[in-house]
Amino acid sequence: MAIQFPCTHCNTILRIDESHIGKQARCPQCQTLNLVTENMQFSGSDFEQNQPPPPPPNPYSTGLPTTPSTSVRSQQPHRGELILGLGIASILCNVCLIPGVLAWILGKQDMRKINQGIMDPEGRSMTQAGMVIGMVITILFFLSVAAWFLLSIALSFVLGI
Ligand SMILES: [Zn+2]
Repeated sequence: MAIQFPCTHCNTILRIDESHIGKQARCPQCQTLNLVTENMQFSGSDFEQNQPPPPPPNPYSTGLPTTPSTSVRSQQPHRGELILGLGIASILCNVCLIPGVLAWILGKQDMRKINQGIMDPEGRSMTQAGMVIGMVITILFFLSVAAWFLLSIALSFVLGI
């Protein structure tokens, strides 16, 4: 089987028998010695077609040139005000758990969408603030429930109820 490879000096395609692997071959064009190695083993047509493949067609392409403004417009609007509002509501109303949990869950979802570029990144700081407040209030709520629970057990022991 023959090996074909381009000359290192003039790029002429040299055709050498594979028994010459490890030896040097002289280019007939420029007389440069080329070391024949095993990984040179490719056919001449492969070398000619060794161009990067064309980019795959965009499935979302409508044939019209896409501009950055259209991709920005296709982003979902952020819900920063809503999530921050829920977070603040959870502070004001620290007995009701729902706004804090909602702010946490929605904030987490929206932060992921913002990071993936699906959602308008303008609301990032608001969304993050609402999410953190909601998370802290939710954790504090469960801690206070646990504290009250432990306190009532302790009291029942102490008082012998
Ligand atoms: Zn050459």
